[in-house]
Amino acid sequence: MLVMADAGSVVIHRRALERIHLDDEDGSVALLLRLLREGRRTGSELADALAAKGFAASEEDIDAALAQFDDWRLLERAGDDDTLRPEVRRRHESNLRFYDVTSSLEVSSADQHRRVAAARVLLLGAGGVGSGVLQSMVGLGVGHVTLVDFDVVETKNLARQFAYGLATIGERKVDAAKAWADSYSGGTAVEPVHGRVASAADVRELAEGHDLVVCAIDSPDDIQLMVNEACFELGIPYVVGGLAYSTLCYWSVEPGVSPCRRCLQLHRNDEGPLPDTLFERATVNRATGPIVQLLAGFVSMEAMRYLRRTEPPVAAACYHVVELADGMATERHAWQRHPECELCE
Ligand SMILES: [Zn+2]
Repeated sequence: MLVMADAGSVVIHRRALERIHLDDEDGSVALLLRLLREGRRTGSELADALAAKGFAASEEDIDAALAQFDDWRLLERAGDDDTLRPEVRRRHESNLRFYDVTSSLEVSSADQHRRVAAARVLLLGAGGVGSGVLQSMVGLGVGHVTLVDFDVVETKNLARQFAYGLATIGERKVDAAKAWADSYSGGTAVEPVHGRVASAADVRELAEGHDLVVCAIDSPDDIQLMVNEACFELGIPYVVGGLAYSTLCYWSVEPGVSPCRRCLQLHRNDEGPLPDTLFERATVNRATGPIVQLLAGFVSMEAMRYLRRTEPPVAAACYHVVELADGMATERHAWQRHPECELCE
């Protein structure tokens, strides 16, 4: 953020393409911003400091100005990073500076870190997207991740699953991923579960006691509806990421707030059955390392919106699509509640 002032106006350069212009004929706005920049002051101390420079402002005026500045996310609680232990602060410095973008007087960057550190995430899948999401969760300091997968590490995985290495070939992915997480920074407790998810009841049992579910598996075929049903029952949001043909896609559902995956299914059913299949090219996952990292990044960002609760999810009931074969074109397709969805009534 950059704040500029010249005769009669203040310009707040908040983001690359966004400037806020404020009229400031008498220079009082610039002075107030300068006083805030200096450090910790109460409303009445600010009023006194302004009065000392010849500006009469009531505490109500100051409160209104502070509320507006806070709304623009210009303010932070002075020294709030110090509420974290020094080693935590050092380890998460760049995460905290990212949280500054959405921090306010009510929820500081340190508060956001504490929310993340207290969170429990169920991660279904330790393949390309799942292991990438795990790496992001560990870097961000998510407190607990329950990781579910039935696979073992194979040589072919090393093209795009960067949590594994030659030394882990033949190991269960959940064990190898846990070992990676423990050795990386030790801040995330990873609970490995070696097994398949085959029903909504399986998902429900696994998801109990978690704050968020991330689904990074594509089998069985109706896994998304299973996750949807289980998460609705438990009232837990979930995020899904996957690749279909050359299309990278992610979305999320917040039970009780957004339309759900079953709503989408009912809309699709309304469109009638698909024509008979003539033939289908064998399903191949064409994702290279950069592609799964990109997708894992999008999924992790959405997951963090649910965990930090300082900005709304961007993909709730909304397919976010990146078309890899078409110049990385991006699209969004929101879906609506379906009147016959028994979960969303
Ligand atoms: Zn629904």
